[in-house]
Amino acid sequence: MSNEQTFIAVKPDGVQRGLVGDIISRFEKRGYKLVALKLVSPSKEHLEKHYEDLSSKPFFNGLVTYMLSGPIVAMVWEGRDAVKTGRTILGATNPLASAPGTIRGDYAIDVGRNVCHGSDAVESAKKEIALWFKPEEVQSYKASQFDWIY
Ligand code: ADP
Ligand code: MG
Repeated sequence: MSNEQTFIAVKPDGVQRGLVGDIISRFEKRGYKLVALKLVSPSKEHLEKHYEDLSSKPFFNGLVTYMLSGPIVAMVWEGRDAVKTGRTILGATNPLASAPGTIRGDYAIDVGRNVCHGSDAVESAKKEIALWFKPEEVQSYKASQFDWIY
């Protein structure tokens, strides 16, 4: 268990379905601290870089097209075990296998339209945060509600 940062994104379907507030709220209420946030329309090259590990998959081109279909909310959330717990909050990649109470388990039924992204390991979180944010866009601040949680 350690204090970590993770990259969480609301994908275009989540933005267009009005799920941004709910997704932010789940991370806030769980006890994570929002340290970076922006609404962005990244280039195809940026999204191909983000998903470079999946470039040989048959769904890669469709995935990039989906991610290009509208703005994305890019965020960094910080706190204890943020990477692993962030993935738990999101639910399984395939929403049909996601537990109710997770974001995907509550809002999605299609693996190709699964609403949100979360880093899968501390190392990939570091890479993704560096890809999506300039260092000065990631904030450091004290918030007293965390005195109860940590
Ligand atoms: P995760 O987003 O849970 O980390 P992956 O990294 O394996 O999952 O895949 C990245 C994204 O690619 C998924 O969130 C999903 O949008 C898409 N994807 C994964 N598998 C498939 C598939 N079989 N068909 C279509 N899209 C897929
Ligand atoms: Mg992944």
